[in-house]
Amino acid sequence: MPVFHNFIDGEWVPAASGATYENRNPALHQQVLGLFPRSGPEDVDRAVDAAARALKSWSLVPAPRRAEIVFRAAEMLVRRKEEFARQMTQEMGKILTETRGDAQEAIDMSYYMAGEGRRQFGQTVPSELRNKFAMSMRMPVGVCGLITPWNFPMAIPSWKIMPALVCGNTAVIKPATDTPHSALNLVKVLEDAGVPRGVVNLVTGAGTAVGLPLIRHKEVKLVSFTGSTEVGHEVARECAPSFKHHHLEMGGKNVIIVMDDARLDLAVDGAVWGGFGTSGQRCTAASRVVVHKTVYPEFLEKFSCRAKALRVGNGLVPSTEMGPMISDNQLRTVEEYVRIGRDEGARLVCGGRRLSDGEYAKGFFHEPTIFADVDPRMRIAQEEIFGPVVSVIPCDDLESAIEIGNGVVYGLSSAIYTQNINAAFQAMRDMNTGIFYVNASTIGAEVHLPFGGTKQTGNGHREAGQAALDTFSEWKSIYIDYSGKLQRAQIDTEAM
Ligand code: NAD
Repeated sequence: MPVFHNFIDGEWVPAASGATYENRNPALHQQVLGLFPRSGPEDVDRAVDAAARALKSWSLVPAPRRAEIVFRAAEMLVRRKEEFARQMTQEMGKILTETRGDAQEAIDMSYYMAGEGRRQFGQTVPSELRNKFAMSMRMPVGVCGLITPWNFPMAIPSWKIMPALVCGNTAVIKPATDTPHSALNLVKVLEDAGVPRGVVNLVTGAGTAVGLPLIRHKEVKLVSFTGSTEVGHEVARECAPSFKHHHLEMGGKNVIIVMDDARLDLAVDGAVWGGFGTSGQRCTAASRVVVHKTVYPEFLEKFSCRAKALRVGNGLVPSTEMGPMISDNQLRTVEEYVRIGRDEGARLVCGGRRLSDGEYAKGFFHEPTIFADVDPRMRIAQEEIFGPVVSVIPCDDLESAIEIGNGVVYGLSSAIYTQNINAAFQAMRDMNTGIFYVNASTIGAEVHLPFGGTKQTGNGHREAGQAALDTFSEWKSIYIDYSGKLQRAQIDTEAM
């Protein structure tokens, strides 16, 4: 049985208590993939102390040199991508093509942020005064506490670690309890790429035992959290008393709008992969589809045919199209929402059951599920389910579709399928989401654009792109006076 350790101050070490927990395969629950440290506050303290000690010298390494290490990590990730993708499918469940995509996101982010090492532009601007020079530059924030979810086990850690490092911060990462291996693989690559000791630290374990002490630690100056809105609220509350910087990426209830002039083949395909890709366990999952009433029957027929035909199973099997839920808990949540949908009077047109025959009994599988004729006020159309359950909602026109689309507390991603450029532009302007797609599904991000959401999906920050630099650095404005005059005299002169 492989035994894995925390990475603290450049050493791989067990939890101070020696305690461990099992990392299991959600497709074959009997399979234990490895033992990971069940860490606690003492481990967090050691990791944060190491990161604090390493901060000064790391922040003085020129940004292009810091970026070279990140570039080397990208090269190593390329070489080990297939191995990491297979390990990710085993610990998280999503199918191999998706875990390859997850590892590729980490590669893309590493290359992109390596480039940012030479592009940490500030501003130089004319001063108000003669013989004075004015400019701004980025500064590191300090030790960053990075807390990540299980659905993108390598991509999301990379989205935080890489910009944090390039900006001159040091970091302690606490990955999701269910997917420690992928984050560990990323940290190991960074070690191999030459990150100095203490600059990156990894501590595995539970949210309350590791995440909370990390947020509360006074040496942690920035918390970057991706996860549920519920835990995000807690992070914000914990950070408020000391005004600790906090960057929150949280839940979604994303929508695809299908207009009467849409190419239905594209719209159905987008709804299938947006709704059931990653078993619906994406923050950007298209869990609502709002369809114009004139194409509603045809869309529903085609959509449910495709959903019924999806091959559910172990993500390592090449023919599988949808893997398991991450855990029994998540599966139970999905079952509970199916019950809620039925009780609310939504029409179940396909799926609705846990899969438990034969091989399915060994894991946490659920059928792709579609509810039709959903009232947008129903809980299944309002709350994040995080499973393969899609609500299809009829609408009369573009205005009502946009109103339904915006009628949730979340604001991550939205999409429209239409051939009408005016409708596309109107929806682009009026959908209150951080990400918007035309004739493409709600999923799929590119690392050089900002990623994040409005309303209760985020708190105004963005991940990825140049926006990430704003999260992981602070501005300093600098004025250099080369007039040689007393300040008072100079101001009087300039005023004349
Ligand atoms: P979660 O909120 O349960 O956990 C996220 C992380 O926080 C985990 O590492 C967890 O151990 C830790 N945590 C839990 N309780 C904590 C506490 N009290 N203090 C500190 N840390 C704590 O979320 P999850 O189930 O891992 O992930 C699913 C959620 O993540 C969904 O809501 C999804 O929409 C969201 N998500 C959002 C984005 C985005 O970019 N907006 C991306 C991926 C996932």
